[in-house]
Amino acid sequence: MAKIISTNPSKNYEVIGEVEISTDKEIRQAVEKANKAKKSWKDLGVEKRIELLRPILEEFRKREDELARLITQEMGKPITKSYEEVRWTFEEFQWYLDNAEQAVAEEVTYEDENSLHKIVYEPIGTVALITPWNFPFGMLTWGIVPSLLVGNTVVFKISEETPLMGKLVEGVFKESNLPEGVFSEVYGGGDVGEKLVKEEIDFINFTGSTNVGKKLYKIAAEKFIGVLLEMGGSSPAIVFDDADPKTAAETVSNYRFQNCGQACDAIKRAIVHESIFDEFVNELKTATENKKLGDPEKKETEVGSLVAKRQLEILEEQVSDAIKKGAKVIMGGKRPEGRAGAYFEPTILTNITKDMRVWKEEVFGPVLPVVSFKTEKEAINLANDSVYGLSSRVITRNAERAERVASQIEAGTVEINKGDRWLSCNPFGGYKMSGIGRENGIMGFRQLCRVKVVSRSK
Ligand code: NAD
Repeated sequence: MAKIISTNPSKNYEVIGEVEISTDKEIRQAVEKANKAKKSWKDLGVEKRIELLRPILEEFRKREDELARLITQEMGKPITKSYEEVRWTFEEFQWYLDNAEQAVAEEVTYEDENSLHKIVYEPIGTVALITPWNFPFGMLTWGIVPSLLVGNTVVFKISEETPLMGKLVEGVFKESNLPEGVFSEVYGGGDVGEKLVKEEIDFINFTGSTNVGKKLYKIAAEKFIGVLLEMGGSSPAIVFDDADPKTAAETVSNYRFQNCGQACDAIKRAIVHESIFDEFVNELKTATENKKLGDPEKKETEVGSLVAKRQLEILEEQVSDAIKKGAKVIMGGKRPEGRAGAYFEPTILTNITKDMRVWKEEVFGPVLPVVSFKTEKEAINLANDSVYGLSSRVITRNAERAERVASQIEAGTVEINKGDRWLSCNPFGGYKMSGIGRENGIMGFRQLCRVKVVSRSK
């Protein structure tokens, strides 16, 4: 049996476990079981489905420590941040339980003495769910829970970087009272994901890179099934001249270097007014130097390792491309001394040109290019100068300007000043190559449904 080996990127890739890669037969059987279960799961109704999922959340709550430790071991996330991930995931799970009924309730669109018209939200069927590794517990809950609540069955493939998290989750679901076939997992890399989506599924729910998302969109088109695609980002932060450079720098540093720079919606390009540029860069350096890099198992650590060697190598190539083309390294730019594993120092770059990979591509690590602008129009053009459009940030004390700029930014989210959209009620997703569709919120549930209109005469 071929296996995926799970390693700890912050401890020189020491082996922490292994998981068998699913065979073609196992992938097919998982989908067949899901297809067999889908009618009765739909017919059960949302209230009973909520009751079956509630104990699963309770079981996860009991395993909080185990979940947080495993996130840190498999991907190098600082332990305090792993606890944060686990706790916000519990909150989101709870929100889904509390709001599913409302989301799929029938809606009367028109009624008079002769007729009644209503919208009915029905499940789509079997969902192939594929997720990345950067929020290994959070991501999967986003994908699994709303789909099951609206009545879909789910066959899930977690990232090959975090297979032990997949096993932990599968164990909890297996011990629950969910009917056979409603939820199952398959394990492996991209080839297993591709085999899964080529089976008799009804919908693809994918979170990951834009390149893979595009491939899956083509497969879905051939099958003529729907997709929910949550893909890459290169989110800009525009800092205007009326912003306090220190506060702005702290905000940008926090939203760039969290999760070692490995968040889809992290700030990946800073666009700063020329009149405060130097001061901002100095403050940014100070704020970033204050973040403690080190062993993610230690409570005081704020920046751990990257997830894997391959991620480290891509990042190094992107940084060296920038330096070759004339970028100035304000801090970082290399692996820290004395640390074995996928570590990279938080890095700030200036003298950026548009042909540099750090500007054009998604940079999935602790590296921030900073550019300057003169006019509001130029700032907006720079912000929109990307194939991506996931999220963005505007920092200014002028509320009118903030709203005006927000309306012109091509992104699924605009956060203003320290604003954080992160509430389960807010739909999340991208413009342009950052994705199709929305997760979360009432809208997120309904993206996982088919919509039927029933009109009857009285
Ligand atoms: P990835 O695209 O390499 O892999 C994501 C998942 O897809 C993994 O499970 C992988 O095994 C699978 N996969 C790879 N090739 C496949 C194929 N041909 N067919 C089917 N499945 C395949 O991405 P990654 O490196 O794991 O994650 C980082 C990316 O995810 C970044 O681009 C990041 O921005 C994005 N991301 C987006 C969001 C969002 O909500 N928009 C959230 C988190 C991460």
